[in-house]
Amino acid sequence: MALLQISEPGQSTAPHEHRLAAGIDLGTTNSLVASVRSGVVETLPDTEGVDMLPSVVRYTSGDGVTVGVSALRYATRDPLNTLASVKRIMGRSVSDLATLKGQLPYKFVDQDSGVPQVQTVAGPVTPVEVSSEILKVLRERAELTLGGELTGVVITVPAYFDDAQRQATKDAAKLAGLNVFRLINEPTAAAVAYGLDQQAEGVTAVYDLGGGTFDISILRLTKGVFEVLSTGGDTALGGDDFDREIASWILEQAGLDTSHDHQLMRKVLDVARSTKESLSDANETEIRLEHGDEIRIALKLGREQFEQMIEAYIRKTIAWCRKTLREADVEPQDVRHIIMVGGSTRTPCVRRQVEDFFGQPPLADIDPDKVVAIGAAQQANILAGNGSGTEMLLLDVLPLSVGIETMGNLVSRIIDRNTVIPESRAQEFTTFKDGQTAMRIHVVQGEREKVEDCRSLATFDLTGITPMVAGAAHIRVTFQVDADGLLSVSAQEKSSGVSANVAVKPSYGLTEFEVEKMLEDSFAHAEDDMLAKHLAEQLVKAQRVLEALRSALEKDGDELLSVEERETIMQARMALEDACDGKDGERIKQAVEKLEHASEAFVERRMNRSVQRVMRGHRVEEFEAD
Ligand code: ADP
Ligand code: MG
Repeated sequence: MALLQISEPGQSTAPHEHRLAAGIDLGTTNSLVASVRSGVVETLPDTEGVDMLPSVVRYTSGDGVTVGVSALRYATRDPLNTLASVKRIMGRSVSDLATLKGQLPYKFVDQDSGVPQVQTVAGPVTPVEVSSEILKVLRERAELTLGGELTGVVITVPAYFDDAQRQATKDAAKLAGLNVFRLINEPTAAAVAYGLDQQAEGVTAVYDLGGGTFDISILRLTKGVFEVLSTGGDTALGGDDFDREIASWILEQAGLDTSHDHQLMRKVLDVARSTKESLSDANETEIRLEHGDEIRIALKLGREQFEQMIEAYIRKTIAWCRKTLREADVEPQDVRHIIMVGGSTRTPCVRRQVEDFFGQPPLADIDPDKVVAIGAAQQANILAGNGSGTEMLLLDVLPLSVGIETMGNLVSRIIDRNTVIPESRAQEFTTFKDGQTAMRIHVVQGEREKVEDCRSLATFDLTGITPMVAGAAHIRVTFQVDADGLLSVSAQEKSSGVSANVAVKPSYGLTEFEVEKMLEDSFAHAEDDMLAKHLAEQLVKAQRVLEALRSALEKDGDELLSVEERETIMQARMALEDACDGKDGERIKQAVEKLEHASEAFVERRMNRSVQRVMRGHRVEEFEAD
């Protein structure tokens, strides 16, 4: 099994040269940058002395962009141009957003392409662009503080991020002018920050409850090597949910409706958040809110009542802990350390329930907001070549299974979820019709059996296969996942030696080209890509149907069809063949449906007959057995 050696790149560099490097926690709610200076790792504050940069970006018509606290100040006054929690839509497609839209109070550009864009006064912006603004600020801060240009950075992502989300993060970094050494999972960074490699061997659980995401990761340490045994979580569960619970309680108490008032909604959410945070220390807190001339709210909220509001969310996180432990084949009492990560783990009842479940108090000495950035900085330092060369090895796992589409819209998994990466695996496939010279390879990601329930990553063609009988070709499809969890796929046919490959880029519609150009063109290409994908899928389906029909007609056409029936089928077939010459996926889809409809009776008759044959065969066998 391939190990990922963190100290490797350092070995070629001169020992005395210190290269500037940083670790970046690009959070949903808050982002941080940290670095190792004179052997000490620390988060880097801004000129005001504040470490935490709110992951908020504000767009204005005149002078452009502001990031962080100064943007956050406008969240209430200018909510549609002040974008927060954009990490939730990183690498997501428009269709993914249907479920998230209600949670994000922004105006999405109405479009059919794959890339979601948020409408601002400065024009539409993509999540990648918004994230890159945050990264630019952190880069400037680091370069100013450290006094030089960064050689590279390590950026952390939730363990559950899929390919598209990881790629989007890398794109954002590139756009911000950063060289990304590596993306690493947030929990892994936290474990590194606690220096668990220095400790005895054992299993560690990392419980990360931030503003917008929950992750639980089970790591095992053996001989200075971290191995991620399993990961689980929910990319839409966090402190924001607690805020919303308090906010709707406030609105209910005050008899208010905010559905048409973005400003009021933001204001209530802000108050809800500070209420929540003060309940981490106090048993009761006062809520005061004024809006316009009419709205004056004064309420009291106790800790116990708050705990009831969020009980269901915490229970959900514990259920994930149980499930993820089971997947790692570890009992709760066999966990040696539990690490608390994320601002929301400051809520006392979160800690309490985690402690109850694992049967021991979690580690929380390092600030749970900073622990991820600190671990990332330590790794960046090693990757820049500043390490001693004896640093630990790191193993990571693939968060979701990847595979290809096979006959019948089914998925053939090639690398399973939770496989240690980097990893390369191959599987053989064959042709399904005589003389077939090309094969379309559709790469998908996910745990479901049917292609439509998985995420489509890429489609490519293997052409130039020597014609031979169906099933005779040996097509070897190789999947390779690199240390960042990014995938490349190649296919090779043995006897003709032809091959094709694709580096799987995000399925949110952007492929191949440079990020700068990518962003300029994102709209047009995304639409093309979506259409091309739709067309490709319909063509495959059509070809499969045509091929099945051809072979069925050849075998049973004369016997089972009347002249009129045959004529109807032929017409539908011709219509489909015509449609396949064009570029309209929808037209092909409809023609396929018509052809399937026209041949229904034929298919049924063939099926009945083969059933009868099987039954006849069966009786004969039974007779013989007697
Ligand atoms: P992310 O990783 O999603 O960016 P963070 O780890 O920075 O998030 O956590 C942000 C969340 O932590 C927010 O929901 C914030 O309200 C919450 N939080 C911060 N401080 C406290 C506190 N003292 N008590 C409870 N929640 C807190
Ligand atoms: Mg976080």
